[in-house]
Amino acid sequence: MTSAAAADLPLEGRCTCRAVRFRLASRPLVVHCCHCTWCQRETGSSFALNAMIESDRVELLSGAPELVDTPSASGAGQRIARCPRCRVAVWSHYAGASEAIRFVRVGTLDEPGRLPPDIHIFTSTKQPWVVLPPGTPAVAEYYDRERYWPAESLARRDAMLQAKAAAGASAAPVRGSRT
Ligand SMILES: [Zn+2]
Ligand SMILES: [Zn+2]
Repeated sequence: MTSAAAADLPLEGRCTCRAVRFRLASRPLVVHCCHCTWCQRETGSSFALNAMIESDRVELLSGAPELVDTPSASGAGQRIARCPRCRVAVWSHYAGASEAIRFVRVGTLDEPGRLPPDIHIFTSTKQPWVVLPPGTPAVAEYYDRERYWPAESLARRDAMLQAKAAAGASAAPVRGSRT
């Protein structure tokens, strides 16, 4: 079972000063541990741990995150949602995946240990001392969603795309999110 499927609800999180608080209304679609150099720079650490979830399943309990335009590896850019007071980042929108998806930073959750990674990505640039556990999928760059996502997450993604098409959204179509 993937961590996304195993996580109990609710999952709540916040920034450091507590001005921004939020709750995940359902399990994430997938949890990425990204070892790309961009994530390393943005976190000042060795990797980023991101829970991918539909934006309308992230309930804001308090505060109003500010969206900060930030370059991304694809060149399409990303918007990082930061607390307007302490500036801690709570989630990102990537241009490739549109505003409909949030990449919630797992470390901002009250119990981050409940969302271990479903997959390690961009391990080609992993820091050499990071040792990956044998039981978790790991790929050198990005991956084929159909192969790694649980069926429930694929169905949720289809539902999201259909709702978007029905609404006649003019935004760019959701595609593989090369961050
Ligand atoms: Zn804050
Ligand atoms: Zn990354």
